[in-house]
Amino acid sequence: MIMISEFMYELFSDMPRQGPGSNECTRKAYKLLPNLPSRPNILDVGCGSGMQTLELALISEGQITALDNYQPYLDDLKRRAEAAGLNNRIKTVNGSMFNLPFTDVSFDLIWSEGAIYIIGFRNGLLEWKPLINRGGYLVISELTWLNADIPDEISIYMKGEYPGIKTIAENMEIIRQVGYELVGNFTLPESGWWDDFYKPLRTRINLLGQKYTGNQEASEVLDASRQEIDMYKKYSPYYGYVFYLMQSK
Ligand code: SAH
Repeated sequence: MIMISEFMYELFSDMPRQGPGSNECTRKAYKLLPNLPSRPNILDVGCGSGMQTLELALISEGQITALDNYQPYLDDLKRRAEAAGLNNRIKTVNGSMFNLPFTDVSFDLIWSEGAIYIIGFRNGLLEWKPLINRGGYLVISELTWLNADIPDEISIYMKGEYPGIKTIAENMEIIRQVGYELVGNFTLPESGWWDDFYKPLRTRINLLGQKYTGNQEASEVLDASRQEIDMYKKYSPYYGYVFYLMQSK
């Protein structure tokens, strides 16, 4: 017997990152934010092993708190930060995005790539808002429909995988309702799915397939991951990761 959740974490360990994204897009989003303080206080929610945390530390002069609830990812981030000489600017915190453990600090910028789906788009926007300074920013990336005309196969698949997925227009409406102003948005290019995420994930799937030969639970998880990659290959024009840049009012 293996614990499925532990196995999932193992699958996504030793990866450059744990979700789609790229340093190029992290940088692009950051540079689009007007009038940030010169040394912003940044919180990175669901940082994983922190590819975007390191990029944020490189391009900002700020202090970054990187939060995740899986300690091995945070340990990995700490190692990477030390190797890059950025450890004095990055603090890791083991905590939950459902109950952010900050009572007496607030942030100029909350960042979260590929993780807000865990708490839900609207919920995350609402729950994290009190921690953002007035005029501060929230930048997130979120799986989004890119096309109005969705083929049945992918529509049905998404109902099982991520029923909360919305269109850009629907998310824009939520942003407005919760009291943010949309500063900008753009879609992660397909290379941001493959280079640092699905390609290395394929290698991990093959590796763990060998390690767990004959283990049924493991092979079910691996099959589901292969299917996820196949779906993206087939239907990438219909959905993608969209960066939403919001200013708290
Ligand atoms: N931002 C990273 C990781 C995205 S994957 C990247 O783009 O590569 C989502 C991350 O959310 C994982 O690292 C997972 O451990 C973390 N996570 C899952 N549930 C969480 C929770 N309740 N609180 C905080 N982090 C959580």
